Amino acid sequence: TEELLLNAEKLAAIGQMAASVAHEIRNPLTTVRGFIQLIKEDFEDNSHFHLILDEIDRINFIVSEFLILSKPNVVHFHPKNLKHILEETVVLFQVQASMNNTQIVPDFEDGDLLIHCNENQLKQVFINLFKNSIEAMPFGGQLAVRVKRVEDKEASIQIIDKGEGMKPEQIQKLGTPFYTTKETGTGLGYMVIKRIIEQHKGRLTIHSKIKEGTTVEITLPLISC
Ligand code: ADP
Ligand code: MG
Repeated sequence: TEELLLNAEKLAAIGQMAASVAHEIRNPLTTVRGFIQLIKEDFEDNSHFHLILDEIDRINFIVSEFLILSKPNVVHFHPKNLKHILEETVVLFQVQASMNNTQIVPDFEDGDLLIHCNENQLKQVFINLFKNSIEAMPFGGQLAVRVKRVEDKEASIQIIDKGEGMKPEQIQKLGTPFYTTKETGTGLGYMVIKRIIEQHKGRLTIHSKIKEGTTVEITLPLISC
């Protein structure tokens, strides 16, 4: 047990270090981004600047995911209507979806679904899942988003794509740091998703079949009234 405790302390220390390094990277990056944006205007052919800015945004994104993972559990939870959060996330994501010829098809049960949550974190989970689904459908298609009440104590959210699907051994690897099959993937998405769902005392279930698609189901405890 002593060794386990020591390990936990070490992990916490590494986490704190990772968080401060991530912070220290982000600040100068913001400055660099600002100046590049400024210089860009002086050039007639500024296509290369877009490349630089995109890459900076990518570093920023990776560092942000890293920050979430290394942050200690000081997240604030509030009672919220899950359906509003999902609706807002769908609106947020609509542009990206249509650029990918994907149509988001919401199917939300009537009535409020109150849960204790951190809204921004939950949105991050849904965005990560939507992103994975549209990336699994390179030619576009439909992305179904369903939410319903289960036995008056849980909310069930299903995100269903008809994309390339995964083998059982791939599903097993989800959440392993840096596991990705994409050229420009970070392999951190599912680590973030799992961490946040865990903090919300929820469950994550994945059904997937190669060339048929993937259904991700999240269940979250409802606030009992
Ligand atoms: P990333 O998206 O950066 O690769 P993730 O943790 O989000 O990292 O996903 C890890 C891997 O799981 C992806 O590279 C992909 O191979 C697979 N995957 C995730 N979601 C889906 C999905 N909806 N359909 C097919 N494969 C998926
Ligand atoms: Mg992803």
